Amino acid sequence: MEKVRVRFAPSPTGYLHIGGARTALFNWLFAKKQNGKLILRIEDTDTERLKEDSVSQILSSLRWLGIDWDEGPEKGGDFGPYYQSQRQGLYTKYAQRLVQENRAYHCFCSVDQLEEERQKLRQAGIPFRYQGRCRDLGPEEVQSKLRQGLSSVIRLKVPEAGQIVVEDIIRGTVSFEAEQFDDFIIMKSDGTPAYNFACVVDDHAMQISHVIRAEEHLSNTPKQCLIYRALGCKIPLFAHLSMILAPDRSKLSKRHGATAVGEFQETGCLPEALVNYLTLLGWSPTEGQGELVSPEQTITSFSLEKVSKTAAIYDVQKLIWLNGQYMTECDLDSLTLQAIPFLLKLGLINSLDVEEKREYICEVVGAVRERVRTLGELAESSRCFFQDIVAYDEKGLEKYFLNQESVEVLLSKGRERLNVLEQFDVENTERAYRQLIAELAIKGGTIIHPTRLALTGRTVSPGLFDVMALLGKKKCIERLDKAIDMLKKNNFKNN
Ligand code: GLU
Repeated sequence: MEKVRVRFAPSPTGYLHIGGARTALFNWLFAKKQNGKLILRIEDTDTERLKEDSVSQILSSLRWLGIDWDEGPEKGGDFGPYYQSQRQGLYTKYAQRLVQENRAYHCFCSVDQLEEERQKLRQAGIPFRYQGRCRDLGPEEVQSKLRQGLSSVIRLKVPEAGQIVVEDIIRGTVSFEAEQFDDFIIMKSDGTPAYNFACVVDDHAMQISHVIRAEEHLSNTPKQCLIYRALGCKIPLFAHLSMILAPDRSKLSKRHGATAVGEFQETGCLPEALVNYLTLLGWSPTEGQGELVSPEQTITSFSLEKVSKTAAIYDVQKLIWLNGQYMTECDLDSLTLQAIPFLLKLGLINSLDVEEKREYICEVVGAVRERVRTLGELAESSRCFFQDIVAYDEKGLEKYFLNQESVEVLLSKGRERLNVLEQFDVENTERAYRQLIAELAIKGGTIIHPTRLALTGRTVSPGLFDVMALLGKKKCIERLDKAIDMLKKNNFKNN
C-alpha cells in the first residue's frame, strides 16, 4: 500500500486558532494510526497577509499541544524546502510546462479591462467569469507581448463542460459542474503562484496521499482537481473536516471569546485537556470510553470515515470543565511544574523558591487543584498559602463575621484548642475542632466557615484541616488572632 503522507499547511497570517489546531491534530492522529508521516508546510506566498512572528507562534503552539511533525521547519526532510516562499522555482517550472503543453496560457488582460467587463456583466445580472479573450492568442503574439514586457498572468484552460467529482472520505461524493469555473489564474502577474496552484504543486511534489483540511477549502478542491488533471498527476484523497461553529451556530470569531491556542495556554489550560477537547470536535470516542480520552486511545480506533460530517459546536465551558478534570487527575509533579510559571507571575513565589520550596508548592497544588479549573485559578486560589491575607472576601465578611453571633468567642475557642496541639497535622487539628464542635453542640459550619475565612480570606478553599496543616501552627494562630482582634475592635474594614 502507498505510504501515508499527510500535511498541515498553515498560512502564517496570525496565531494558531482552534480550527487550525483541530486540523493539525486530526492529520497527526491519522498519520500516527497509519504509521505515516506528518509534513508541516508553511504557505507564505501571500505576502500581504503575512504577520511577523506568526510562524514561530504557530510552531510553538503545535509543540505545546504535543503535535510533532516528521518533516518541515526545524526538522528538514527529503521534500523541502517546507516554506512555499522558498519553492518559487518549482511553481514557475510547472506553470511553464502547462503553458508549453497548451493547458495554460498567458493572459494580458489588464485589471481595468476586466473590471469593465465585470461591471457590464453585473448590470446584466450575470456573475463574472473570465471570457477567455487571451485563450487562443497565437504563440508569436504571446512571445511578442512578453518581449514588450507586458504584464501577464497565467490561466488554466478549464474544460467548458463536464463534471468534477470529488470523493471525500468524510463527506462522500461531491460533484461540481466544470462550467461553474472560468479559466482561473494559476500564476499572478508578479510571478508568484495562486494558492490553489502552489498547493497542488506542493502536495504532488511532497507525495501527499491524503489532504485533510477544513471544510472551507472544499470549494477549492474542484479547481485543484482541474490542476491535477492538467498536470497529469495522481489526485490525493480528500477529507474535509466539518466547520467549527459558535454556540449560536454563527461563524466562530473573536467575539466568541478566546479561540487562539496561545490564549488558552496563557489562561492556564493544560495541553492534554485542549487536545482532548479538540479531539471531540469531530471525533466520538468509542462507546464506554467516556469523554476523557488520551491521544493514544484515540489513535487506536481513529479513522477518517468515522469523523463527523456535521458541524462541531465550540463550547468553551466544556473545555474549561475538561481542563478541571485533567487538573484533578494528572500527575501532581507535572501539574506543579506547569503551575509554577503562574505562581511566579502572581508574585507568590520567586525563582529561588522554585527549588527551595518545591515540596511545599507541590503540597499546595495538590490541595488546591480539585476546586479549580485552570492553572490561572489555581494560582489565585493558592494566594493564602504564600501571602498574608490583605483582604477578606466581601460576602464572607458579611455572612460569617458581621452577621454571625459570638463569632469572636468561637474563633477564640478554636484558637485555644489549636494552640495547645503539639503535632499540628490534619488529624490532630480536625480532632481538636470536632471535639470543640461536639462540646459546644453547634453545627460544624458555625465555626468552620469563619475559621476558613480567617485563615484563607476566602469562602472556598481546600478542606479546612488540610489548610491548617499546610499553613502550620504559627500562621494559623497569627491569622486567627488578627481576625479576633478585628472583631474585638469592631474594625471590619478590609485593609
Ligand atoms: N494554507 C491554507 C490555510 O491556512 C491551507 C490550505 C490547505 O490545507 O490546503 O487555510
